[in-house]
Amino acid sequence: PLWPWAQLTGVPGSEGAVSFGSCSLYTLGVQSGPWLPLPCLSTHGPRVASADPGADASLCGMAATRASGTNAVRYGTMKSNVLNLRVVLPDGRLLHTAGPGRHFRKSAAGYDLTSLFVGSEGTLGFLTRATLRLHPLPEAVVAAVSAFPSVRAAVDCTVSVLQAAVPVARIEFLDEVMADACSRYSGLRLSAAATLFLELHGSQHSLAEQVRQIEELARLHGGSGFAWAQEQEERSRLWAARHNAWYAALALRPGCKGYSTDVCVPISRLPDIVVETKRDLEESGLTGPLVGHVGDGNFHCLLIFDPEDPDETRRVKDFTDRLGRRALALDGTCTGEHGVGLGKRALLREEVGEEGLATMRHIKAALDPKNLMNPGKVL
Ligand SMILES: Cc1cc2nc3c(=O)[nH]c(=O)nc-3n(C[C@H](O)[C@H](O)[C@H](O)COP(=O)(O)OP(=O)(O)OC[C@H]3O[C@@H](n4cnc5c(N)ncnc54)[C@H](O)[C@@H]3O)c2cc1C
Repeated sequence: PLWPWAQLTGVPGSEGAVSFGSCSLYTLGVQSGPWLPLPCLSTHGPRVASADPGADASLCGMAATRASGTNAVRYGTMKSNVLNLRVVLPDGRLLHTAGPGRHFRKSAAGYDLTSLFVGSEGTLGFLTRATLRLHPLPEAVVAAVSAFPSVRAAVDCTVSVLQAAVPVARIEFLDEVMADACSRYSGLRLSAAATLFLELHGSQHSLAEQVRQIEELARLHGGSGFAWAQEQEERSRLWAARHNAWYAALALRPGCKGYSTDVCVPISRLPDIVVETKRDLEESGLTGPLVGHVGDGNFHCLLIFDPEDPDETRRVKDFTDRLGRRALALDGTCTGEHGVGLGKRALLREEVGEEGLATMRHIKAALDPKNLMNPGKVL
């Protein structure tokens, strides 16, 4: 068997190797290695690759899991940002999914092999190089935090912002448990209330209008406490607090373990699923702060539990299955970011149905007839 791995942030992990490929004006070729920090990219012009998971993942690992992050609401997930992949197939042949060296924005030429490998979780081949789409850096950026009277109010506000077509670059939700934990962990003064973190990108002129629209919509949903930060340092402090959510959650119960699960639903269903999930957490007696890339209809529950306690461990597993099924019942998916892995195989079957699963198995058998790559994962 062959088990590809990179930075191991998809599972509790360790370090990987660094090696970068070439960079042109609009695309970036990167071999499997860790995520590039922004200054590294800016030396190649005012452009930036978009997906930003909250961990130091590798680009090929991110392609393998179809990852995304806080920026996806504006710039898309790895699905829309990977233009070409160099893949070593299980029998050793080398495949360039879009043809050697090609990096176009659209194509109608045959099957979309790049999309097939993006999100394949190491079951179809080794990704050894990814060509990514780059985005221009905006002229101006502002970020703000706002507190809401309830989780429903915060999520309803998100839906209103999206329905009003305000082009938010980031809109992130924290429930009151998560906001309080982040506040304590990162030293930001957040209220222990349902909270939205927002960021807007554009020209100075367009931002003034977006800020006005957002403040008006937030007020309608009881949002308060807006303070817009334009300085890089202040914005970085804010987003560092958001990106440290996992560690802030772990600090809620020192000595316990964390298990992160995520789902994604159509935006209109988001308020209901978040409210139902909060109720479920309470009834299950679990510590599970919620944090979400709500602009995409995606949220995570960071379950903190004692692995030595079999009853609590069982309740975590049952809760996770219920959350996945709740998302499916609302026409959503059992995972928006983290992938199927081993834990969500039954949910995948329910999501895509027998024919969907059989088609995936045919593809796997055609590319990896000996079932060498990550055997047992996903399917
Ligand atoms: C604190 C924290 C925050 C996170 N936040 C986010 C987030 O906001 N958004 C998000 O999408 N994810 C998030 N994640 C999950 C994780 O970072 C992503 O899934 C990431 O894409 C995994 O990349 P990696 O390089 O660590 O891959 P690994 O964990 O090493 O591997 C992940 C999977 O990809 C396969 N794989 C890895 N490299 C290759 C390769 N070169 N070829 C073929 N298959 C390969 C592995 O077999 C495995 O199945 C978070 C994780 C943590 C710990």
